[in-house]
Amino acid sequence: MLTLPGGFTKPERTQGVVTFARQVVTIARAARRACRQTGKKQKENPMLTQPADKYRPSPVVSLPDRQWPSRQLTQAPRWLSTDLRDGNQALAEPMDRERKMAFWDLLLRCGFREIEVAFPSASQTDFDFVRDLIEQQRIPEDVTLQVLTQAREDLIARTFVALQGVPRAIVHLYNATAPLFRERVFKQSKAEIVALATAGARQIRAECQAQPETHWTFEYSPETFCFTEPKFVLEICEAVADVWQPDAQRPMIINLPATVEVNTPNVYADQIEFFCRHFSRRDAVCISVHPHNDRGTGVACAELALLAGADRVEGCLFGNGERTGNVDLVTLALNLYTQGVSPQLDFSQMHEVIEVVTRCNQLPVHPRHPYAGELVFTAFSGSHQDAIKKGFAIRAQQQETEWQMPYLPLDPADIGCSYEAVIRVNSQSGKSGAAWLLEQNHGLQMPRALQQDFSRCVQLETDRHGGEMTHYALWQLFCRQYGVTQPAVALQRADSQSDSGGQTQISASVMVQDRSLTLTGSGNGWLSAAVNALRSAFDLHLTIEDYHEHTLGRRSDSRSVAYISCVDARGARAWGVSIDNDTARAALQALLSAAGQFLQAESSPSERRPADDETSR
Ligand SMILES: [Zn+2]
Repeated sequence: MLTLPGGFTKPERTQGVVTFARQVVTIARAARRACRQTGKKQKENPMLTQPADKYRPSPVVSLPDRQWPSRQLTQAPRWLSTDLRDGNQALAEPMDRERKMAFWDLLLRCGFREIEVAFPSASQTDFDFVRDLIEQQRIPEDVTLQVLTQAREDLIARTFVALQGVPRAIVHLYNATAPLFRERVFKQSKAEIVALATAGARQIRAECQAQPETHWTFEYSPETFCFTEPKFVLEICEAVADVWQPDAQRPMIINLPATVEVNTPNVYADQIEFFCRHFSRRDAVCISVHPHNDRGTGVACAELALLAGADRVEGCLFGNGERTGNVDLVTLALNLYTQGVSPQLDFSQMHEVIEVVTRCNQLPVHPRHPYAGELVFTAFSGSHQDAIKKGFAIRAQQQETEWQMPYLPLDPADIGCSYEAVIRVNSQSGKSGAAWLLEQNHGLQMPRALQQDFSRCVQLETDRHGGEMTHYALWQLFCRQYGVTQPAVALQRADSQSDSGGQTQISASVMVQDRSLTLTGSGNGWLSAAVNALRSAFDLHLTIEDYHEHTLGRRSDSRSVAYISCVDARGARAWGVSIDNDTARAALQALLSAAGQFLQAESSPSERRPADDETSR
């Protein structure tokens, strides 16, 4: 939960912390280098075949009648953000005043009502920040500051100097209680550890009584709770509560941290339920949890702890904090949201939250971070894309309120994200991905057979380059492939006439490789007349196999798009696509574009292969 050696009350000591942190980083780097070098020489496999010789399992609590597994989360807990304290302490370069203020403002916008802002006795920056918030009256009426202090007389005194004039505050006292710390770090007995906590509690009570204009809340953390004997946790918390005598006027929070995560989340839940069931003043206190993430299960620990009876969660946005970080409050909140429970926090502008947090912490958000990473609403795989595309189509068709979307537990729109990144195309993508992007960005509703044809082109392209295809590259490829721009046979002008016998004559002037030609033909419609004109001009024997057209956009004056596929005498197929203000011109050009592909294939050694079925990925 915290690691700073206490007593940093002057600016030069803050500097000392930075130097110390740099030294630790240097030592760690050297150790890693040494590890790489000596590891090779001394031992092939540094990992033990019998890890039990070195590592012991953490103890568990006996709670056979545990109740938490059959409960459900139905409401949001009280949240405390400790970004400005626990998170800040873990930064290589802790936040300066400006960054702290930007983060504070963000937390207010997100709806946090309890914010641990500082360890005022540990650094001058923290002390000054508390003073700024109070003196500049930046604390809204429904927001409560929290500050942390160790159980030392001078530090507690300095903490209350920092808090003078604050309307409401939570004073958070902690000391480490686990045998590992009692025996190795402090060399103190259980009684001495209890005495330390109660002495701190008494001093805090006296300081609070001396500033009665503030509404005080008292918080105590048996730090290292999750590997302290459960009965000793009860003993020390009872002793502190006896000093504090919590009631409605002077509420108390008991915070039970997984300072270092040492076991599976069910064990943490058992520990919380055990405490809740045995603590004598359960109804008079708020039970808070403060999970870290050493085993990667901080979120699970927090959720199971809430099932086990906890009322409140302390954590950081995107899980910043010492080592593997504090529990991530964004994930916790949105996990509730996607179960239909309002988290009472607002992440409608996720991009802004990410921008402020990464700027203040100078740490990135992982691309696969739950709900927030830049890839979490993206599907590359073909089968996923196909399912999502169908999901969106049904949603649009049926005007559904309920969110039922394959592969997407949260509607990206709810956190201010567009659907643009939902589907991205690489060599793993099938026909749906490219079709979706062309539909979303250009309004094309491609016939299924064309989707398959284009998917093969995309596949060749992505296999050739290995990477992702951007929207722009995809559109360029589509236009090139089907003659949307710069077709091999470009229509200049066309006239058609129908005679009384039902025959249509067509005369079209076209450009082929900078040469102007006039094509003439007749048929029982102007498209078949054009097919005949192509036969006499180029000896191309084409049959129109598929013809689709639709308008782009909803306005009646919108442009039309035409899709035509032709097969030649040998069964080879080509598609042409054209977009034009005039429907007939679009269709004619689409036919010429398809024909152009046969002409190009004839003049180049590689022929168009006959169409085969798409292999779905
Ligand atoms: Zn912590």
